[in-house]
Amino acid sequence: MRPRRLFTQLTLSFLAVAVLGVAAATWISTRIWRHFLLTQTNADLEAQARFLAHIARERWSRPENLDDLCKKVGRATGVRLTLVAADGRVLGDSLRDPAAMENHADRREIQEAVRGRVGVHARLSPTVGLPMTYVAVPITEDGRTIGVARAALPATAMKAPVRQVYLQVLVGALIILGLAAGLSLWLSRRLTRPLEEIRRGAERLGRGNLSLKLPTPEVEELVSLADALNSMAEQLNERITTIQEQRREQEAILASMVEGVLAVDPRGRLLSFNRAAAALLNLAPEMVGRNITEVVRNPDLQWFVTRALAATEPVEGEVTVREDEEERILQAHGTTLRDSRQVVLGVLIVLHDITRLRRLEIARRDFVANVSHELKTPVTSIKGFVETLLEGALQDPQHAEEFLKIISRQVERLHQIIEDLLSLSRIEQEAEQGRIILHGRRLGPVLRAALQACSDRARDKEITLELSCPEDLRARLNDTLLEQALVNLIDNAIKYSGPQSRVQIEAAKEDGWVAVRVRDQGIGIPKEHLPRLFERFYRVDPGRSRKAGGTGLGLAIVKHIAQAHGGKVTVESTPGQGSVFTLLLQPD
Ligand code: ADP
Repeated sequence: MRPRRLFTQLTLSFLAVAVLGVAAATWISTRIWRHFLLTQTNADLEAQARFLAHIARERWSRPENLDDLCKKVGRATGVRLTLVAADGRVLGDSLRDPAAMENHADRREIQEAVRGRVGVHARLSPTVGLPMTYVAVPITEDGRTIGVARAALPATAMKAPVRQVYLQVLVGALIILGLAAGLSLWLSRRLTRPLEEIRRGAERLGRGNLSLKLPTPEVEELVSLADALNSMAEQLNERITTIQEQRREQEAILASMVEGVLAVDPRGRLLSFNRAAAALLNLAPEMVGRNITEVVRNPDLQWFVTRALAATEPVEGEVTVREDEEERILQAHGTTLRDSRQVVLGVLIVLHDITRLRRLEIARRDFVANVSHELKTPVTSIKGFVETLLEGALQDPQHAEEFLKIISRQVERLHQIIEDLLSLSRIEQEAEQGRIILHGRRLGPVLRAALQACSDRARDKEITLELSCPEDLRARLNDTLLEQALVNLIDNAIKYSGPQSRVQIEAAKEDGWVAVRVRDQGIGIPKEHLPRLFERFYRVDPGRSRKAGGTGLGLAIVKHIAQAHGGKVTVESTPGQGSVFTLLLQPD
């Protein structure tokens, strides 16, 4: 059954009660009124019969006048009056001729009156042909009934006053019903309004507006309902706040993780991911819900997800992603994702960027290979000449000296490589352990010392070394290391310049740095070599470098020294015109 509004139900119930009440009251009151009117009419008829009896008794001795009396009095009162002798003969009648009327001895009211009582009877009058009410009283003389006086009224005479009464009662009932309807509406509204307020409040709570409180209703029974709803909303609010806080915490933890984390459902659709995963795999929030194969077109990852979804144990693998020509190597861990009831939700994938680690590994491997390669050439050469000497060349003094000179050069070369390697590893170690102490010093003396150290080699090639440095220019520096870096740079400038050229060393303050420039007019470096120039053992022209006694480590040492100074080294070069190496240091 369709539920009806409480307001309608209450109003209808009140109205039904009112209608029933008014109907009952109307029915009862009309009955009472009818009865009252009948009794009154009978009493009136009796009074008129008695009046007639009184007058008739005085004139009883002349019965011929009695009919006339009836007619006169009947005309005056508007009531039918009849006088009947004790034996039933009609002596007078206000409406008819008594001679033409039959004997009335059988009429019930007459029989009663003859017995000395008041006779009342209502019936159809054979004389008049209408329903009549008769009231008959005895006419007595000396205790003896000598006749009967009867008054009668047609029943229709009663109709008008009864209808009048009915009409008034009906009007009254209608007015009361109207008032009752108004009262029902008012009462129903008064009763349902607090319920309506609670309903609206509950709807607001349902829409999630949990901070709003329901007003306390005026109806006692509803106060506890409103209280219960309010406390329920408060508890819900608290729980939701707690859940939201937990969620925010979890999100913050996930967001601040360096590792990329993503969850995939059993059908391979992306459930969620953190910021790091978004950056690594180029994911956007709107991709949640889509299949991982659609959003990340990476065969490694797709294969890994398939493997992780199929596995029951945690799986591990490597995923290579490429972005803007740059390759990133990610170590992936996949674990089955289950909820608190152990239902499988999918798989959780954690991605760890191991590109740097891998590069370091490769660099270390390359370094070992390079060192071995660098050492192999002089050692092979030494080995060969020593064997030649031992096999007899020692006996030939001219060759022996020549061979020994070569061995000595190769030993010197080995020594240089080992010196540079040791120097590099020392700088690296000390920088890592924070053991390189920087002091605020004047730059001039360090530059002059470096210049001095290279002056012999410059003189050999007739190269002019020029220095320009403000005397008061200061920087935070470690003089031994800085001198070593500058010697390397100046030495290179001399090595890779033709004879009789110029090498300029300039120092100046620049953009918050102290810049030291070593400028030469040498062979220059082709552009494609510049990015890798500071790597260990990197040479533009290995043969030329070796011939010039280079180890390929000089610029790597310069780079590490610059970093240990909190600065950096850069290079600009034009092949055939010369190079400029700039060392940037922190000012004092
Ligand atoms: P090397 O011992 O071979 O000089 P470095 O590390 O000092 O090693 O330099 C690496 C390479 O950079 C050199 O082999 C050379 O090709 C190039 N290079 C360095 N300085 C200069 C320069 N001033 N002019 C031209 N090429 C240079």
